[in-house]
Amino acid sequence: MAKIIDGKMISQQIKDELKEKVESLKEQGKTGALAVIQVGEDPASSVYVRNKKNACAYIGIESLAYELPGETTEEELLGLIEELNGKERVRGILVQLPLPEHICEDKVIQAISPDKDVDGFHPQSVGAMTIGQPGFLSCTPAGIIQLLKRSGVEIAGKHCVIIGRSNIVGKPMALLMLRENATVTITHSKTKNLSELCKQADILIVAMGKPQFVGAEYVKEGAVVIDVGIHRDENNKLCGDVKYAEVEPIASAITPVPGGVGPMTIAMLMNNCVQSIEEG
Ligand code: NAP
Repeated sequence: MAKIIDGKMISQQIKDELKEKVESLKEQGKTGALAVIQVGEDPASSVYVRNKKNACAYIGIESLAYELPGETTEEELLGLIEELNGKERVRGILVQLPLPEHICEDKVIQAISPDKDVDGFHPQSVGAMTIGQPGFLSCTPAGIIQLLKRSGVEIAGKHCVIIGRSNIVGKPMALLMLRENATVTITHSKTKNLSELCKQADILIVAMGKPQFVGAEYVKEGAVVIDVGIHRDENNKLCGDVKYAEVEPIASAITPVPGGVGPMTIAMLMNNCVQSIEEG
């Protein structure tokens, strides 16, 4: 029986710690707001945006909501970001992705001032993370590091195999695991012998975006398995990239979906906001 890594509980711990920190920063006169921008009305994005606003309210920081119509032009969005970059009170700017097709996401990400880039997606943030300099860390991978550490999983010297090399999960995950002294293998859709490689992992991190893809044949006895994927199955129930029922009996620890990695992303976003208020 694997230990269930409880992301809900750990994210709550982090938010409670941040709430205390926000109070003590207020006593020092340090406050600030997170600007959350949504373009269009994608229902999934609306849920994420609402959760982020609720998390701000919980830890005690102000959130400013910008709900823009789907027809908003790239120029208008870039104009708003420029305006927010110049506002001292705004310590973080978050643009909910994905954006409508007529807006270039890269341009938008690069328009955000790196000292307000609480998502950690700006090339300057990514570069700083790569060479171990201070800056905002990408929230989902940073959350996974917290999940592992706070569950007592030792990382140093372990072989970590990551499935996926996206800019928001796979690549930053690899860099953060390397920073924690793991030996890292990154795999992707062109990787040969995927299951054999995965079976060598002490820590297997799955971020491939394929519902219930990874079964028992990918997992070494006693491995720690982190499932980043989020999907709805044929019964409209949430599931991950991992076949949970099949993998759980082999793993020593595993994240469930929901209640594993998901809640950590918002907790780490809040962490970045508090860091920004502290430094601002
Ligand atoms: P993505 O951009 O679609 O990247 C998927 C990665 O998986 C790519 O690198 C792809 O390889 C690789 N891949 C796809 N099929 C593969 C296969 N058969 N064998 C090996 N590798 C394969 O996805 P993402 O943004 O990283 O997200 C991954 C999953 O995590 C999604 O389900 C997403 O919803 C979820 N997610 C969850 C959170 C959270 O807070 N819990 C946050 C972000 C994402 P190539 O590069 O070769 O195409």
